[in-house]
Amino acid sequence: MSYKFIEEKLNNNKLVILDGAMGSELEKKGALMDKNLWCGTCSVEFPELVKKVHEDYIEAGADVITTNTYACTPISMKNYGMESLIKKFNQKSVELGKKAIENSKKKVALAGSVSASGSFFRYGIEALKPGFNEQIKILSEEGVDLIILEAMSSQADIVETMLECSIKIKIPVWLSISCVIDKKTDNLMLGYNDTLDDPPEVYEDLEKSIKRFSKIHSGPILIAHSDIDVTGRAIKVAKKNYTGTIGAYPNIGFYEKPHWRSDSNLSPQDYLNEVKSWVKNGTQIVGGCCGVGVNLIKPLSSLNNE
Ligand SMILES: [Zn+2]
Repeated sequence: MSYKFIEEKLNNNKLVILDGAMGSELEKKGALMDKNLWCGTCSVEFPELVKKVHEDYIEAGADVITTNTYACTPISMKNYGMESLIKKFNQKSVELGKKAIENSKKKVALAGSVSASGSFFRYGIEALKPGFNEQIKILSEEGVDLIILEAMSSQADIVETMLECSIKIKIPVWLSISCVIDKKTDNLMLGYNDTLDDPPEVYEDLEKSIKRFSKIHSGPILIAHSDIDVTGRAIKVAKKNYTGTIGAYPNIGFYEKPHWRSDSNLSPQDYLNEVKSWVKNGTQIVGGCCGVGVNLIKPLSSLNNE
């Protein structure tokens, strides 16, 4: 495990390949989702399957795999009466990622997913800080190589709070944000669109938001957990407004609690073509989020040979 080779790849204009979905891949392997913590409980209840998903992504060529901690946020676990298990769930998730890397004997970095899942914005920003700090602390102490702030689905204020909480740590920090198109104005916004029925949650203007984040963040910014069509547009906006590294890992499908549903028949070649167009526009980190499985990640590493 190390971050150095990732840094070298980025400095030498190589692509860095991220893994894909965890929840939907676990379900394919028979893991049961939790009604509150979605796939967050699987690190403890189905550890072998979580490790196997990591191993499959490493086999498929991922340079970076991400801990199954997206749903194990302190604020969410406290809310569901699981406070005493916060450390255990996060620790176990890091352990499984480490084991998968160790077993592979390959050079792979482990990213700790710190998320805003269940961040209950109504409590106010100050109430969110302890949870972000706690998860960042546990994951970095357990030895992840980098932190991904999966601020997806969050308002700009929350994103900024997460960034502020991560400033003190010594390992690299990547920032993931989601975006949607505001149907009324056709503007690209920070926000998300997770379900079939509800209208998209639309927050601040994406361009303005990226400018705000760039004042306190210099690591990669990734357009994540957003529709594929929106991702291409968002990359151009990110590239125009941010001089740092840009990445992308979109989703395919929708969330129907506690399952991620996808009836897409997007082929690996189709996905590869999309990713190629993003790379042409300056994206250097590519992978997949919910609904993007091992079969779609596998062809991406071929892009480094072109
Ligand atoms: Zn996702």
